[in-house]
Amino acid sequence: NPVSGDAIRRRFLEFYASRSHKVLPSASLVPDDPTVLLTIAGMLQFKPIFLGKAPRQVPRATTAQKCIRTNDVENVGRTTRHHTFFEMLGNFSFGDYFKKEAIKWAWELSTKEFGLPADRLWVSVYEDDDEAFEIWHDEVGVPVERIKRMGEEDNFWTSGATGPCGPCSELYYDFHPERGYKNTDLGDDSRFIEFYNLVFMQYNKMDDGSFEPLKQKNIDTGLGLERLARILQKVPNNYETDLIYPIIEKAAELANISYALADDRTKMNLKIIGDHLRAVVYLISDGVLPSNIGRGYVVRRLIRRAVRTGRLLGVKGGGEDGAFLPAIAEKVIELSPHIDPDVKARGHSILDELQREELRFVQTLERGERLLDQMLAEALLNAQKSETLPCLSGKDVFLLYDTFGFPVEITTEVAEERGVKIDMDGFEVEMENQRRQSQAAHNVVKLAVENGGDLAENVHDTEFLGYDTLSARAVVES
Ligand code: ATP
Ligand code: MG
Ligand code: MG
Ligand code: MG
Repeated sequence: NPVSGDAIRRRFLEFYASRSHKVLPSASLVPDDPTVLLTIAGMLQFKPIFLGKAPRQVPRATTAQKCIRTNDVENVGRTTRHHTFFEMLGNFSFGDYFKKEAIKWAWELSTKEFGLPADRLWVSVYEDDDEAFEIWHDEVGVPVERIKRMGEEDNFWTSGATGPCGPCSELYYDFHPERGYKNTDLGDDSRFIEFYNLVFMQYNKMDDGSFEPLKQKNIDTGLGLERLARILQKVPNNYETDLIYPIIEKAAELANISYALADDRTKMNLKIIGDHLRAVVYLISDGVLPSNIGRGYVVRRLIRRAVRTGRLLGVKGGGEDGAFLPAIAEKVIELSPHIDPDVKARGHSILDELQREELRFVQTLERGERLLDQMLAEALLNAQKSETLPCLSGKDVFLLYDTFGFPVEITTEVAEERGVKIDMDGFEVEMENQRRQSQAAHNVVKLAVENGGDLAENVHDTEFLGYDTLSARAVVES
């Protein structure tokens, strides 16, 4: 019997507890910091300690932290390893132990506690972190072939433009050791998966860009629970672990289909539902209600995408109003006790909120259907007048997509039934415009807004542009 996700979480915490780490609860998904949008890593609740702004309560801690990463939303269902909601298991040292212990324990946890074969593990170190290289090589015994020196992007962690930072070292699992050592790339996810990241916080990055060694050296780590579960449960992706699969099965059941027999596209859509339902249940439980701004906007977009995806699959709710999110969310709540003990008690209001928001969105979709009808009638009329082939403009298709949540495939299908073509090139132009706008916005507003004057609640989550736009919201909500 493979080890359950719940058991992995418990054993991780116990492993570090028995090495004098205090087990602390997950912090809320809403950070205790008005300038940060959402909790993206386990270290966030300790940031004041790392920054030297708050005294440490204990020298060592360990947590299973609920996280949201909206920057990975495009990866959901496409890669085998990314979610918007996931749990990060972490061990932390506040000026206590450093590199040597962090590396040795990470290795012991992986190989002894969880029994991963040593020859399946690869590690990365920052390009000139010889100290980490030597610990992995000389003390742990990892052969040079499986230690990769990597650049700043992957292996140097900073908390912002200035402040505590340092090199990191990551552990990867190799699914295909038979492919050998030639031309290996740890970023090749058909072969490797990153599952554990150890950050050695040893510098303070100064205003002038120089690095000053910290008096207090810290350790900040993150291990993706769903990723380790996927490795240990020997399933092809994180979604098929016991942490998420029951939610997918529930959605499939409500759509009257079978995940196992489904094609890749359907599987991807079921994974999106599995992921987004987890995210919205935990966000709402932490007090983030759907709205048009800040965190609430994240929830709204995830809900809408889940509704749209569910309708595409033919998911049907049991009740009279046709809402199906609550039925799937019940499964998320059922699986919640070890992730967040508060979710069950808040279950009723979470389900109510989801139902309200789903029905609100369905109304928007239905307005879109009427609009599409009008657009098609006009296109047919114009074609008759001008004796050309009937065609829906890129602008119209984009408006339907962006404002009324119509996937292009659906618009195409409905249009074709009526003998109307779609200007796909025009649509792509509109999409590209939007992408450019969101990129520009993204450069201004980072996912975890830091030290900015703006409060996170007033900030639009620019990562989500591409599903609905800012301008579109005014239309929908007016
Ligand atoms: P990747 O390169 O795979 O996107 P990352 O380097 O962005 O991961 P870190 O910031 O190092 O991830 O986070 C620490 C750990 O958290 C990762 O090693 C991974 O196990 C897990 N993790 C990160 N992002 C996700 C995600 N979107 N879904 C699930 N687990 C994640
Ligand atoms: Mg990433
Ligand atoms: Mg990475
Ligand atoms: Mg990483």
